[in-house]
Amino acid sequence: MAALSIRALSKRYANLEVLKGIDLDIESGEFTVLVGPSGCGKSTLLNMVAGLDRPSAGTIEIGGRIVNDVAPKDRDIAMVFQSYALYPSMTVRQNITFGMECRHVPKAEQEKAVANVAKLLQIEPLLGRKPAQLSGGQRQRVAMGRALVRNPLLFLFDEPLSNLDAKLRVEMRMEIKRLHQRIGATIVYVTHDQIEAMTMATRIAVMHQGSVQQFADPDTVYRYPANLFVARFMGSPP
Ligand code: ADP
Ligand code: MG
Repeated sequence: MAALSIRALSKRYANLEVLKGIDLDIESGEFTVLVGPSGCGKSTLLNMVAGLDRPSAGTIEIGGRIVNDVAPKDRDIAMVFQSYALYPSMTVRQNITFGMECRHVPKAEQEKAVANVAKLLQIEPLLGRKPAQLSGGQRQRVAMGRALVRNPLLFLFDEPLSNLDAKLRVEMRMEIKRLHQRIGATIVYVTHDQIEAMTMATRIAVMHQGSVQQFADPDTVYRYPANLFVARFMGSPP
């Protein structure tokens, strides 16, 4: 069973057609990267999977359940954004446990979950700090920690590294990749960066002007681009 199935998904804003009939099947455990130039509809697609935006047509199925009418909090997903979106007045620990507190998870269980995630992400020494006392990379780790404690069926990342400097970006790529292998998560990761797509994905969906041009493993995309757009965008000879 696919972790995520998208069927004939379209989105228009007034007379602007942003997504034009997307079909996508993502298997459990895959690291799928949606890559394409700015404005091609990547965030719109991810936001609809998250339930932050409504499709004009088509269906979204998560874990075998059609979720078009399911609220974001009930979709079994966790999302990580470029802008971290941490609560500034809370400590790192509180940022991570906040969702569990809202769901009335017992304190002991919360503690255990925080300890596990903090160890996995190597943020144990930061648990007592406020977001303002963290570097960009540390903030992004905390944002990932908040997603990880939810233990969702599907992780959605929207350009999570684009606020970081080049060196840290490369480090964090590897870290996210290792995390994926370690916990066997299903990840849909949006980026406009071809290198990021090539190094992180098990499969790449190359997008252009609201449609998926090719959906294949990195080697196939690089060696056998489906069309001129893919060839040019991914940097292989046409
Ligand atoms: P990407 O994430 O690939 O850069 P987006 O999904 O953010 O692209 O945007 C795709 C297109 O949809 C862009 O042309 C953008 O201007 C347009 N768009 C996104 N959100 C809205 C909105 N709320 N109202 C009108 N147009 C929008
Ligand atoms: Mg975007």
